[in-house]
Amino acid sequence: MASKIKKIGVLTSGGDSPGMNAAIRSVVRTCAYLKIECVGIYRGYQGMIEGDFKTFDARSVNNIINKGGTILKSARCEEFRTKEGRKKAHDQLVKEGIDAFVVIGGNGSFTGALMFNDEYGFPVMGIPGTIDNDILGSSYTLGFDTAINTVVDAIDKIRDTASSHNRLFFVEVMGRDVGHIALNAGVGAGAEEILIPEQNLGLERLLESLKRSKASGKSSSIVIVAEGDKTGKNVFELKEYVEEHLPIYDVRVSVLGHMQRGGNPTCFDRVLASRMGVKAVESLLEGKSNQMVGIRDTKMVLTPLAEAIKAHTEIDEELIRVSDIMTT
Ligand code: ATP
Repeated sequence: MASKIKKIGVLTSGGDSPGMNAAIRSVVRTCAYLKIECVGIYRGYQGMIEGDFKTFDARSVNNIINKGGTILKSARCEEFRTKEGRKKAHDQLVKEGIDAFVVIGGNGSFTGALMFNDEYGFPVMGIPGTIDNDILGSSYTLGFDTAINTVVDAIDKIRDTASSHNRLFFVEVMGRDVGHIALNAGVGAGAEEILIPEQNLGLERLLESLKRSKASGKSSSIVIVAEGDKTGKNVFELKEYVEEHLPIYDVRVSVLGHMQRGGNPTCFDRVLASRMGVKAVESLLEGKSNQMVGIRDTKMVLTPLAEAIKAHTEIDEELIRVSDIMTT
């Protein structure tokens, strides 16, 4: 049976992540391939409310697969949290003749999409775009692979100077609620300790570990600290604490910050984005809605948005064990 969906909107919402452009490109090209109209919605839900739309064809997304950020811009939109705001958005979509939308974003964006669907029965599909890799239903979110490669690259450089000067570096990485970036990049960059929100190692254990590291002959050390780690101290306070209790160390701090969100997406993120965009459009045309596209065991899968927003993904205990063994 032919689908009732003839025009699909696509938007990016919440924090940007590398791979969002590749996902936009994929949604647009899949629509073109299936002879469906596609409309870019600028500035997330804010642009939806204001009718900031532009018709896209296959050529509108030339040369963006390799670019970080999002050509559609992203925004946080307080008005969409209100019934009145969502009514305005619905009016704009109806006026433009849009029958369904794909939202590329995180938990908040999916919550908004669900509420919108609940009120208007409007078909919605989510693509997880966040560097944190914290969304249930997908082993990988768009941008995570790029972010951990960016972090590993930065730490490799920091290690050069750390080992030249026999220094200890605390490197703060993103991750307020989850430590996936810290743990994966930490293992990949050979960090001596990794402090993540899911695990409170305690300051004593950190000191013990650093003492052991020194005694075993290591002349420099890298400790990765996720923003939300639970030691109760930020990286600068950790530096002071260690300098006070272990004066043998010359300690430095590096906060990587927003550089982790930018940059050209890795090939992994580009391929993932391409697959997710195809799956999102095809699923809408099959009559599915309120789902998030994800990847599990190398297969594209759908998870109800209501499930995806329920909780963060758990940290990989096996990888924590690997990390512990590697720091011997
Ligand atoms: P990230 O956390 O990776 O930045 P996100 O999608 O979780 O991405 P948010 O800022 O939480 O980012 O949400 C993006 C937008 O989604 C909000 O600005 C708002 O417009 C909409 N939104 C978030 N939560 C809700 C909600 N409870 N009801 C309606 N809309 C919401």
